[in-house]
Amino acid sequence: MDTQKLLKNLKTRGFIPAYFESGKEAAAYVCSLIADGESVGSGGSVTITSLGILQTLVERGNKVYSHSTVPESERSVVYQKAGSADWYITSANAVTEGGELVNIDGAANRVSALCFGVKKIIYIIGKNKIAPTLEAAIYRAKNVATPLNAKRLNKKTPCAVTGRCHDCNSPDCICNVTTITHHPTKYQTEVHVVIAGEDLGY
Ligand code: SF4
Repeated sequence: MDTQKLLKNLKTRGFIPAYFESGKEAAAYVCSLIADGESVGSGGSVTITSLGILQTLVERGNKVYSHSTVPESERSVVYQKAGSADWYITSANAVTEGGELVNIDGAANRVSALCFGVKKIIYIIGKNKIAPTLEAAIYRAKNVATPLNAKRLNKKTPCAVTGRCHDCNSPDCICNVTTITHHPTKYQTEVHVVIAGEDLGY
């Protein structure tokens, strides 16, 4: 994997790329982008949780909307607030060396916020999520990221048992919407893609 090529391709596509050797450095950079008083939305990202970014922002006084910290009955309200915050922080299920971002969602709260409604977006992506092609990125999302997420969320899907995708139609399926982000949209003012030189999340 050629990191310089990835960063160059991200920039050509209109993203604001950055690279740090460690997730810790990447997290400090992300927090430095967000001003006092700005609000932040986020989904249930293992990467973001493992880096303690939301906790740092809460302690700093930023308003943070993340459904993973509230009961199921309150989630739809938090989804709406997260989707209209000043910033949205997420990882991705995969990024291609060509600079495209692939995400698969169950409730689509994350992908909808990434497509429209939030003007400033930050992706933090560990090197384990870099795929050579778009086909490999989608394969990774379905056969690496989603089975582990299904298991973590106690979903009754075949992938949670076998560790690979069976293209299920299960009521518990969390592959309801797949997005490929080729460029920032006109409505968005800043879309940062922060790559870390270590494995983060899945
Ligand atoms: S389609 Fe079903 S089996 Fe395949 S990864 Fe998604 S939830 Fe798992």
